[in-house]
Amino acid sequence: MKLLSARTGLLITLILLFVLGLAAFAMQYFDSAPAWVEHPSNRHFYTDGKLSNLGTIYDRGGKALLQMSDGGIKYNEDPAIRTALMHVTGDRDGNVETSISSVFKSDLMGWNWLNGAYRFNSEQPTGGTDLTLTLDAGLCAAAYRELRGRRGAVGVYNYQTGELICMTSSPSFDPVFPPDLTGESGDYEGVYLNRLFSAAYTPGSVFKLVTTAAALEQLPDIDKRRFRCNGEMEVEGNMVTCPAAHGELTLGEALAHSCNTSFARIALELGAEKLQEYAERVGFNSAQKVDGIHTIPGRVELAHAGKAGLAWAGIGQFTNTANPLNFMSLVGAIGNRGLAVAPNIVARRGFLPAASAGAKKRLLSENTAEALAKMMRNNTIAVYGESNFKGLELCAKSGTAEVGEGKKPHSWFAGFLDRSDYPLAFVVIIEGGGSGSGSAAAVASAVLHRAVK
Ligand SMILES: [Zn+2]
Repeated sequence: MKLLSARTGLLITLILLFVLGLAAFAMQYFDSAPAWVEHPSNRHFYTDGKLSNLGTIYDRGGKALLQMSDGGIKYNEDPAIRTALMHVTGDRDGNVETSISSVFKSDLMGWNWLNGAYRFNSEQPTGGTDLTLTLDAGLCAAAYRELRGRRGAVGVYNYQTGELICMTSSPSFDPVFPPDLTGESGDYEGVYLNRLFSAAYTPGSVFKLVTTAAALEQLPDIDKRRFRCNGEMEVEGNMVTCPAAHGELTLGEALAHSCNTSFARIALELGAEKLQEYAERVGFNSAQKVDGIHTIPGRVELAHAGKAGLAWAGIGQFTNTANPLNFMSLVGAIGNRGLAVAPNIVARRGFLPAASAGAKKRLLSENTAEALAKMMRNNTIAVYGESNFKGLELCAKSGTAEVGEGKKPHSWFAGFLDRSDYPLAFVVIIEGGGSGSGSAAAVASAVLHRAVK
């Protein structure tokens, strides 16, 4: 009996050691496999230390954006496309963490966890998987040009399918001829950041869409209410001001003229808890994932805001920040009658359609979304000027976000086209761009007109 239990004990110990060893191996494998596989000494992939046979990244029209040729990386021949899409292809040294070549490196090189290095048939050398993106390279280049060297980002996507057709971030540079990025001018500060995915800015008045959504659902008879604006309003010794006295306004008029005192009033009436709840419902305080690329979340934190903080938060100031991609998804959901379709960027991996396309989530009720859409359409007609957006059926909201004394405000413009042939939503952010209905709206107009051609 004693002998048996000693043997059992030994056996159990051995089994435990085996399992532990297996777990340790698995952990190390998952932790280090990319480093082992992608090490330049691996002759499956490297010839004389240079990558060979990498897959190619194409845009939606079949333009090659990045490919391997004779052991070297080859970019698109057009410098405007190379520059506009540097954050998508990545630079030569792999500094852009959210680039397709970084995030999909194993696909492009042709290995996975299960099969290791693979090939499609024994005749071929190990070959990477080609990736076809949803992006239109020409449209991205046009968007970058429209930013005219100003810092910021542009995003356009199809709010029914989730396809991201335009994305660009500035500053950028031509990865074939990289400039001196460390220069004292600071022109290239944060150049590796894709500002659509990885930045969060004070939203200013575009945030009034969130406050309006909450008001529509939480304040009874809000559509029959009238707000009185005499140009300023005191909240606990803090002055909330409008550029001028707006007089008597409906909710729709308050949104169109971006009346700060009306929205400060609405925020106070809603209370911190409700405004917080709606902000989180539409994506604040959580990161999005676009085909495995994580975004930086925008923030709304009202727990200790106090009354003045809450009033300012309702008009998109206080400590609020918004991530441009998330905001684009929000206006896309309004265009899609409350149903948010997750943005995606990879259309095909090799011969297969990408798995992640089009995940849907109800963000707002259909009624709320339709009421918001109507107001955003009225914004264009009443304030932004239908002639600037001819034929687009534009529904939009501008934002001019104050970022501190002596600094030029950030310029935002976000919205969607109410068109069944071009169900597109967009966001434009220009750092220090001034008025949203001025500079960001002009960029949006040029990019959207080109998108529907
Ligand atoms: Zn006002």
